[in-house]
Amino acid sequence: MDEASECRKLKEMIDAAKSVVFFGGAGVSTESGIPDFRSADGLYNTKDVRFDGYSPEYLLSRDCIEDEPEVFFEYYRQKLDARRAKPNPAHLALARLEQAGKLTAVVTQNIDGLHTKAGSRNVFEIHGTTQRNYCAKCGREYPADYIFDSKEAVPRCSCGGVVRCDVTLYGEQLPEDAVEGAIRAISSADMLIIGGTSLRVYPAASFIRYFRGRYLAVINKEPIDLPFRFPGALVLTMPIGRAFTLAGL
Ligand code: ZN
Repeated sequence: MDEASECRKLKEMIDAAKSVVFFGGAGVSTESGIPDFRSADGLYNTKDVRFDGYSPEYLLSRDCIEDEPEVFFEYYRQKLDARRAKPNPAHLALARLEQAGKLTAVVTQNIDGLHTKAGSRNVFEIHGTTQRNYCAKCGREYPADYIFDSKEAVPRCSCGGVVRCDVTLYGEQLPEDAVEGAIRAISSADMLIIGGTSLRVYPAASFIRYFRGRYLAVINKEPIDLPFRFPGALVLTMPIGRAFTLAGL
């Protein structure tokens, strides 16, 4: 099949389905200019000498924010500021599918808040989001600007506590509500679209195992291996925004 007919097939599947769930990863955000973790200018590649000898896993860990908060926030501000990023055609198409009553939920591994910005309402952010921030001591909420624009090395609440992002750091548990909601949505969907994720990174593969529906579409720039057999799965090897645009979504 050529690209155009593959994308037509995607549209046909969506038309035939009753409740679609989207499960997405970093590839959904790259078209909004947010680098993938492992890309050349992503989190795992920094030339900043201040971070020499630190691994990205440590820099984004609970240990780092507790033991060396100055280092944590320096890195966080440099790498995870998505405030100016805009939703791309994929985010917008998913929001429209939800408004049309076709899509029931978006499950995302991304922490940039772009699905919400695009207008999606039922979004399960299984790694949290940089858009929500709170005081680790009293729980008071703060806007993202409070951390990114702070002149202090370590942003603090009026109570003295550290203000942090509601993102799951290495060494922390995934947010229970989002995980439960995601699993509920995936297990009751009759179509699952997996997009922009290699499925190699935990816990992506473990989530999609809950899918019991009829239609499965996988869209990723690079070829991927499904962690289970699914006869009739539609596999599109192309950027997700392009797939949705060609499908007329
Ligand atoms: Zn506080």
